[in-house]
Amino acid sequence: MAVMARNPRSRRKTSQILRRVIQGAFVVLILFAAWRHAAGGESAGLASLDALCPFGGLETLWRMLVDGNYVPKTHPSNLVLGVGLLAGVLLAGSAFCGWICPMGSLTDALTWVRGKLRIKEVRVPPALDRGLRFGRFAVLGLILYQTISTVKLWFAGYDPYRTIFGLGWLFEFNWAEQWPAYTVAAVVVVGSFLVPRAWCKYACPLGGVQSLLGNLSLLRIRRNDASCKACALCETPCPVGIAVARGSARISSDCIGCLACVETCPRHGALEVQLRPAWVDAIVRLARRVRPTAQEA
Ligand code: SF4
Ligand code: SF4
Repeated sequence: MAVMARNPRSRRKTSQILRRVIQGAFVVLILFAAWRHAAGGESAGLASLDALCPFGGLETLWRMLVDGNYVPKTHPSNLVLGVGLLAGVLLAGSAFCGWICPMGSLTDALTWVRGKLRIKEVRVPPALDRGLRFGRFAVLGLILYQTISTVKLWFAGYDPYRTIFGLGWLFEFNWAEQWPAYTVAAVVVVGSFLVPRAWCKYACPLGGVQSLLGNLSLLRIRRNDASCKACALCETPCPVGIAVARGSARISSDCIGCLACVETCPRHGALEVQLRPAWVDAIVRLARRVRPTAQEA
């Protein structure tokens, strides 16, 4: 079932403005919470960023299942956000990255600034790009291993989200103790300035989780090859470099649901957001294989 067909140009602007507004609202919300916490500590009544991260919920989930306890520095809020994120992924894939995640918004802003400065992006060769995308799963595996073996939020000392949006660098800059976190954050900022969404594509552990589970999502963008004229216009605005016009008609689970491709496509019905998960395709394919043809019957 098609949920959304191609939008006219006027709607394109509106939906991208809406996305920017939502991204900006979450950035302001997170920065406000971090500011209050850093300025007033726990007594300010607002949680630290550690409590506002859905990935913390995934990190602590294993311990909850084993002995009913939390990994230190995680809270019920992490679990609620983590479960909410998983539900969102099962509904709409990695749309969290395109619409909500402050790190995604930061990388989009860096790309915008680079464009304004007329600095060319660094083009990663396709084979290298495909290999680097596995970096998300390597980082995810490392974090889970270290969290389980050390029973603490091991990644907190390196997490660029926590470093940048926690505002610790502003309130109590401490190079001697925090240099690993500052170094990772600087590499992420420079990398994402030169390569659009480099952090999201190559290293974000939450992106890895969403890409894996996104294969089960109910909503997915699909290309209708009967309508597509193979102009590849849809590939230009894709912030995560997906080959929208080529390969599988079901767009990759790396898609962050920004809708830029759908809105750029000039052919009505060539790209649509459809309510049809990949496992339905698999069942349909299987049914076609086992169903006897009319002649066999
Ligand atoms: S922009 Fe539309 S018509 Fe052109 S390649 Fe992409 S899906 Fe096909
Ligand atoms: S495939 Fe389309 S919706 Fe997905 S990230 Fe790329 S441009 Fe955005």
